[in-house]
Amino acid sequence: MAFPINKFQSLKTPFYYYDREILKQTLSLVTEKQRQYGYHVHFAVKANANPLILNEIREAGLGIDCVSGNEVQCALENGFDANKIVFAGVGKADWEIKLGLEAGIQCFNVESLPELEIINELAGELNKTANVALRINPNVDAHTHSYITTGMEENKFGIGLWEVESICEKIASMKNIHLKGIHFHIGSQITDLDVFKVLCTRINEIQKNLEAKKVKIESVNVGGGLGIDYEHPDERPHADFGNYFDIFHKFLELRNGQELHFELGRAIVAQCGSLITRVLYVKEGQHKKFAIVDAGMNDLIRPALYHAYHKIENITSQEECDKYDVVGPVCESSDCFGKEVVLNKTKRGDLIALRSAGAYGEVMASHYNLREFAQSIMP
Ligand SMILES: *Cc1c(COP(=O)(O)O)cnc(C)c1O
Repeated sequence: MAFPINKFQSLKTPFYYYDREILKQTLSLVTEKQRQYGYHVHFAVKANANPLILNEIREAGLGIDCVSGNEVQCALENGFDANKIVFAGVGKADWEIKLGLEAGIQCFNVESLPELEIINELAGELNKTANVALRINPNVDAHTHSYITTGMEENKFGIGLWEVESICEKIASMKNIHLKGIHFHIGSQITDLDVFKVLCTRINEIQKNLEAKKVKIESVNVGGGLGIDYEHPDERPHADFGNYFDIFHKFLELRNGQELHFELGRAIVAQCGSLITRVLYVKEGQHKKFAIVDAGMNDLIRPALYHAYHKIENITSQEECDKYDVVGPVCESSDCFGKEVVLNKTKRGDLIALRSAGAYGEVMASHYNLREFAQSIMP
């Protein structure tokens, strides 16, 4: 990636840099497929809630997928139509449900019977009808990191297959609930696209079973989870959207008039973002060198949290390579962005880019060690 290094020199580090062109290209790949098939794509705002990003996403015409009341609020404040907002989450508090009802969001993705009963009750109090989709746990293995699989029996998410039909029967007598459809989300950073074929097959079975019980399904929401190439952000700056959407077109048996919804987070924003940090010290150990940078795990927690890989580059040095452990200033041994990383010869003051940091980066930042939040720019 060609970074505007001149613009960087005067900025306080660390900061998030978002490449507008990459984001625009990604969005046009998505909207092209969306138009081709008449699909509905919602951006999972938990991946990145920066107004600079949301502005581009709104202009591209995507909807929003939320997992908290504040995300619903954030989507509204950033100009998204309530009727393009869907709201999932296993633990929606009463105020969050009321917020969604009052705003008139498109759909609650409901994760349990007790939640459904409370939505019905609160909607009754407000004299509203809540559109809901049942988030079904399809027991499909996403072949991804265990912390980010969500569609297996042992995960806390969704309604078990065994319970779906009885819940549908109960909904028939809930006055303030309208069952709009079924919802799935099986995990994140899924790079084996065959997983989505398995999901389609499972959904086809579920649809047949529900039809046999005369349950009407207006919309199917297949969630998100499409992965990106963290190893090669320059060679593959976009996720495989073409094959991804084609799989659903080919393998999912939609009924006449049925809508198909997607909730993509990472695949839309990961590659446009980098965390830019400055080298404070190069410390020579007996057997290795440490590049100590001014960004820490509080700015980008993915390596510490999931052992996630981010490509690391020295973007100011042109000198011959050496190996460094790239570490932050936070007082935790897990505050390490990479071990034995091959970098251009590094010295104090150099700028380092942690690539593919546009998703689950800035949004997960904390004040740990009372550190300030990194700023962000999108020139
Ligand atoms: C996190 C999440 C998404 C987005 O996941 P990505 O892997 O970022 O695409 C979609 N739907 C739900 C319900 C989620 O919780």
